[in-house]
Amino acid sequence: MVKTNLKTLKIRAQSEIKTAKDLEELNKIFKRYLGKKGELTQVLHSLEKLSRTKRIKIGQEANQLKNFLKIKFDQKAQEIKEKVRKEVEEKEWIDITAPGKKPALGHLHPLTQVKRKTEEIFQAMGFSVVEGPEVETEWYNFDALNIPPEHPARDIWDTFYLKNGLLLRTHTTPVDVRYMEKHNPPLRIITIDRCFRHEATDASHEVNFYQIDGLQVSKNISVANFKATIQEFFRRFFDQEIKIRMRPSYFPFTEPSFEVDMVCLNCGGKGCPACQKTGWMEMMGAGMVHPAVLKNSGLNPKNWQGWAFGMGFDRLCMMKYKINDIRLFYSSDLRFLQQF
Ligand SMILES: [Zn+2]
Repeated sequence: MVKTNLKTLKIRAQSEIKTAKDLEELNKIFKRYLGKKGELTQVLHSLEKLSRTKRIKIGQEANQLKNFLKIKFDQKAQEIKEKVRKEVEEKEWIDITAPGKKPALGHLHPLTQVKRKTEEIFQAMGFSVVEGPEVETEWYNFDALNIPPEHPARDIWDTFYLKNGLLLRTHTTPVDVRYMEKHNPPLRIITIDRCFRHEATDASHEVNFYQIDGLQVSKNISVANFKATIQEFFRRFFDQEIKIRMRPSYFPFTEPSFEVDMVCLNCGGKGCPACQKTGWMEMMGAGMVHPAVLKNSGLNPKNWQGWAFGMGFDRLCMMKYKINDIRLFYSSDLRFLQQF
C-alpha cells in the first residue's frame, strides 16, 4: 500500500513541480509534499507502525524520494529565477553604446544679464544697489520730486492709478527720495527696476519697462563728477571708448538739467537711419538734484548737493545687442532668447 503510494506520489509531485509557474506556486507544492504536514513527511512518520524489515525498506525508499524531490525543487526554483531575470533584462534593456541626449540648459534672460553687468560696474565704482516698491504713493512718485498735482509733467507720465490712491511708479527716481530720507550723505546709489506708463505700445514703448536711476550726493559734487562717472560706465559697458555729449534740457527734479547722448554705435557718428542721421543716440536725462527734492528728502540744500540720472534700461540693452524692437524682450520667443 505504502509502496504504491510512494510511486504515485513521485509521479504526481514531479508533474506538479514541472508545471509550477512561479516561486510562490512552487513553494506551495513543496509544503504539500515536504512541509511539516506534507504527504511524504507523513509517510516517514508512519514508519514506526510498520515491522522492522518493512520499515528499513520503505524508509530507505522514502528518504531517497525526499532527496530526489528536494533536488527537483531546487532545479525548478533556479529555472524560474533565471526566467524572471531574463524577462527583466529584456524589459529594461538599454543600449549603453547609444549616444547620450544633451539636456537642454536654460540661461538668464538678456535683460537680467545686462542688469547684472550694469550693477557690477557701478558697484565697482562704489555705488550701492538699492530697491523700492513698484506700487508708489503720489507723494514719492510726483510731489516729492517737485511735480505738484497741476504740473504738466503728470500728463506726460500718465500711469495706472489704483483704487486705494496708490499708483504704479512711472520711474525709479522715487527710490532716491526714500533712500535719502533714511541715509546720510555722502551717498552713491543705483536702482535698476520695473516702471510703468499708461501708453500705447510700439517698437520703442512698452507699458512695462526697466529704468536705471543713479544718484550721488555729497559736499562738493558737480556736473564734472557726473560726466566722469557716466563716461566710465559706458566705457566698461560697451568695452570701448564712447563719446558722449550733454545738451541743456528740463526736468522738474533737477536744476540745471541736461540730456546725455552717446555716439551712435551703428554708424560710428556718421549718421544712419537708427540715429535719424544725427550720429547721436539719446541715452538719458540727468542733472543736479533740485534743492526742493533735497529738502523733501530731509536734507539741507545748503549743505548738500548731487547729481541724478534716469536711463531707459531696455534702451541700453537694445544698444548693446543692436535690437530694434523693445517688445522682443517680453515676447518670450525662444528664437530670440536663444541668441544670448
Ligand atoms: Zn547712426
